[in-house]
Amino acid sequence: AVKRAGRRQLRRYHPEQDAATEREQVLARELGHALPRQQLTLVFQPVVRLQNSRIVKAEALLRWQHPTLGAVPPGEFIPVAERSGLINPIGSWVLHEACRAALAWPELTISVNVSAVQLLQFEFRSTVRDALTRSGLPASRLELELTETAVLYEDERAARTLQELRDLGVLVSIDDFGSGYSNLMRLRTLPITGVKMDRSITADLTCPQAGQFARALTLAVRGITRNLGVDLTAEGIETPEHLRAVQDLGCQLGQGYGLGRPMTARQLSEQLAHPSCLEDRSAPHHVAR
Ligand code: C2E
Ligand code: MG
Ligand code: MG
Ligand code: MG
Repeated sequence: AVKRAGRRQLRRYHPEQDAATEREQVLARELGHALPRQQLTLVFQPVVRLQNSRIVKAEALLRWQHPTLGAVPPGEFIPVAERSGLINPIGSWVLHEACRAALAWPELTISVNVSAVQLLQFEFRSTVRDALTRSGLPASRLELELTETAVLYEDERAARTLQELRDLGVLVSIDDFGSGYSNLMRLRTLPITGVKMDRSITADLTCPQAGQFARALTLAVRGITRNLGVDLTAEGIETPEHLRAVQDLGCQLGQGYGLGRPMTARQLSEQLAHPSCLEDRSAPHHVAR
């Protein structure tokens, strides 16, 4: 009885925390069934070379459609998957699916998001090698995106694993750079092939107050990536103003709703076969001619 009263009191003082815990438990339980029940799919968002508007990469993004919960966004279920360990089997499925899908697009690099939990897992390197062997995708066409975290920057195991992955021949990019734990010095020592600037910085570029700092930061990162000989991608390009700003600052690659939304594999194949929509948007030749 005492216990029950205590629990009830806890509930009264932290109702939102309680609801969050319950939601997490429901998500973790349901996510455990998501793979066998075929509720997970991949969509693909184009990454564009800004100089010529060509699609050069596709980023695989996970989608979860649940019969009663509906579409649960990755921002909500990926952290649950990480905390429950489910990210390992799910991440392995993503790698295999993405490599297989990439076979349809010989001219593209396929980018796959990898969380720190996966990177630190002992089997991760063999999971990657397996996905490449089974699909037959050349390692140089697979890019792994790692979100900047303390783990990535401070854990020596993470650095070693990155080197092992580079030795396989896969590309490795730092994702969401500038969103949190950014460490410019670490860019030099980690064996990376690219940096993706967080969309919050792209958004700031066209802001009156934040713009000046965002431009300075972008120029600094541009200088550093150029010096290291690695790619720089601007994320979150939504408007023509964003596009101009990142082009003026020398970003080579861009990604965002304004250049192409995440889409199904079939839609991406169509887009690659008929690239007119994308060209129309970035170069108004129908106006000029
Ligand atoms: P991310 O890797 O930074 O992926 C980009 C996210 O930004 C995607 O959200 C994409 O839909 C969204 N986005 C793209 N362009 C724009 C834009 O112009 N404006 C705005 N506002 N958003 C844009 P999504 O698909 O919801 O994924 C969110 C995050 O979830 C990803 O961020 C990534 O960190 C994680 N994630 C997604 N799929 C996977 C996966 O298979 N494995 C792992 N470990 N994480 C994943
Ligand atoms: Mg990413
Ligand atoms: Mg990103
Ligand atoms: Mg992100």
